[in-house]
Amino acid sequence: MAARKGYAMPLDRRTWLKLAAGGGIGLSLSELVDARSVRASAASTKLEGAREATTACNFCSCGCGIICHVKDGKLVHLEGDPDHVVNRGALCSKGAAMVAAHGSEQRLRVPLRRAPGGDRWQEISWDEALERLARKMQSTRDAHWVAGETVGGVELPVNRTDAIALLGGAQNTNEECYLFNKMGRLLGTNYVEHQARL
Ligand code: SF4
Repeated sequence: MAARKGYAMPLDRRTWLKLAAGGGIGLSLSELVDARSVRASAASTKLEGAREATTACNFCSCGCGIICHVKDGKLVHLEGDPDHVVNRGALCSKGAAMVAAHGSEQRLRVPLRRAPGGDRWQEISWDEALERLARKMQSTRDAHWVAGETVGGVELPVNRTDAIALLGGAQNTNEECYLFNKMGRLLGTNYVEHQARL
């Protein structure tokens, strides 16, 4: 009896291979195996019991929306958010690969420092990293502070440093950007940039 379209006929491995090798028996495999339902079933097994959360891709400034599936505290799957105004469910290869980057053992999780003249990176604590950064920023600002400039023979106060620049990222929120700009003004730099403009 010929299999009807949409009818999933049970196949053992031997029969399946014979059909695949034969190729010309008048029936395509898609007529015998309901591939769409097989894929859907595999996906639902993988995501069973997973919690959904939405986020934005962290790679570029497009800010594509993503639905994350989290199981036992781990990201197990992600896909483009079809309701997101930017990407309508689509993701480029970088966004789609984020699931691998997320759990990668190669991800940096602690600050590293390579001492002047050193040939290797060493782990340091967050407190030490912040302390070092703060001291460097202070000394750089002090060493390159410009209090005034003469323009057209007139001495004008400018109070700035040209030795510090701030670089934001695509995933900074509006509130973070506000604070970021404020910090730039407090430090006295005009160079506040964004990674997506480079
Ligand atoms: S999915 Fe691609 S285009 Fe969208 S934000 Fe990520 S990197 Fe940019």
